[in-house]
Amino acid sequence: MTEPLGTATHPLRVAIIGSGPSGFYAAEHLQKQSNLVVEIDMFDRLPTPFGLVRGGVAPDHPKIKSVTKVYERIASKPGFRFFGNVEFGKHITLEDLQQYYHAVIFAVGAQSDRQLDIPGEDLLGSHAATEFVAWYNAHPDYRDAKFDLSVQNVAVIGLGNVAMDVTRILAQTADELYETDIADYALEELKQSNVRNIYVLGRRGPAQSAFTNPEIKELGELDDAEVIVDPKEMKLDPSSQAYIDAGGDKVAVKNVEILNGYAEKGDSGKPRKIIMRFLVSPVELIGTDKVEAIKLVKNELYVNEKGDLRPRATDEYETIPVGLVFRSVGYHGVPLEGVPFYEKWGIIPNDEGRVTSSFKDGSVVTGEYVVGWIKRGPSGIIGTNKPDSVETVNHMLEDVQADKVWTPVQPDATAVLNLIRERQPEFVTFADWQVLDEAELERGKSLGRSRVKFSRVEDMLGVLAKTHDKHLPQVGD
Ligand code: NAP
Repeated sequence: MTEPLGTATHPLRVAIIGSGPSGFYAAEHLQKQSNLVVEIDMFDRLPTPFGLVRGGVAPDHPKIKSVTKVYERIASKPGFRFFGNVEFGKHITLEDLQQYYHAVIFAVGAQSDRQLDIPGEDLLGSHAATEFVAWYNAHPDYRDAKFDLSVQNVAVIGLGNVAMDVTRILAQTADELYETDIADYALEELKQSNVRNIYVLGRRGPAQSAFTNPEIKELGELDDAEVIVDPKEMKLDPSSQAYIDAGGDKVAVKNVEILNGYAEKGDSGKPRKIIMRFLVSPVELIGTDKVEAIKLVKNELYVNEKGDLRPRATDEYETIPVGLVFRSVGYHGVPLEGVPFYEKWGIIPNDEGRVTSSFKDGSVVTGEYVVGWIKRGPSGIIGTNKPDSVETVNHMLEDVQADKVWTPVQPDATAVLNLIRERQPEFVTFADWQVLDEAELERGKSLGRSRVKFSRVEDMLGVLAKTHDKHLPQVGD
């Protein structure tokens, strides 16, 4: 008779696709099950782990990045292996996973951006903010992206924290950014930047801003840039005023207070201006070969049937000359081969983390689970992923108990290692990553910078060529 699943001779084998926060928190919760023997293989299509902590969090926010210490501890636990530079759907398929594992957790995040659906959106000079973020964070896919920083006027569309990050990076001096781990080539280009006016455009009012207090406050603390807010735009409509007066939403109350402070302060003459605009929606990007201007419509707010304050266009328009536009209106997930997908929301349909065939009356898909932004959409901070991943893993554990997971024909850590060796000999282990990590820190040290990242996969593999074979993961590593 076979031992029950989760014992030393019959460990529970789980594949996690994606190595960002949600994937690591799922691994952590599996490791916490003291009554279960679990083997976890985490895959990432990049050689480097940590998802948006490496490729998304702003370089000038090092404290947020220190969460990787927690992930390093998780990766060092017995039974955990990392396979970087291994792409789901290319090097390893869903059918392969079913051969070797009892379950898979998709933790791939939201890798694309939401569209505005306005004329001119695809003109040269119009970019998803997420591309700029990936570029300045040395993401290999965006290493060769081009942003024309010779222009003076830039528009950032959206009032979220990504819009704040992009604005801050554009507004800072090269000296302010020097010690950070911003990509070396991005630092060079930003040093030459001619950008003077950054228009941050919100379709609703100050009280509906999606950014948080530290992020809007930071914009007022920069060496060469200052925030400009027109006092007229701080005059709230009655519904927003009532919302702020009620005081329940402390973040919104403080945001409005900070913005009022900027409006009162006025222009103190710093060379770069961050011009916050409210109640405006872009209706067209204008230009022949590239973006030359953005056409905006003035909005008013109305209360919809759900009681939310939504924007509604008026018949007032204005046009602002800008040469560069960053659309920062949210991320959007992309489908994975063979896995259900709900295009409208850009997520994998699921019931509290159990993948379902669809959202409407969907049946549960055995063995498949989802965590993070590809589960719930692109919202929340890093810590939001912890309870989210715990919820999913708890459901997986219930399914293990009920024997409702996959029955692999080769539940064997060596067998899958051999498959990966064959399909992608240049896979990267966690020990390999630690070599890269050290090399990046070392490159930074000699320059007085916190880190100088590698941004090309071939350069990373070049560094690893000497040590790679020593680091092949063993069962129980
Ligand atoms: P977000 O917080 O959802 O903000 C999106 C912004 O885009 C909102 O202001 C939204 O306005 C606006 N928007 C959406 N559709 C629009 C349209 N068609 N036209 C004009 N504006 C539109 O998204 P995000 O900035 O991408 O951030 C994603 C998540 O990561 C958030 O939870 C964020 O807090 C988090 N994050 C955190 C940090 C940090 O902690 N420092 C840094 C970066 C990101 P409406 O409100 O009117 O919809």
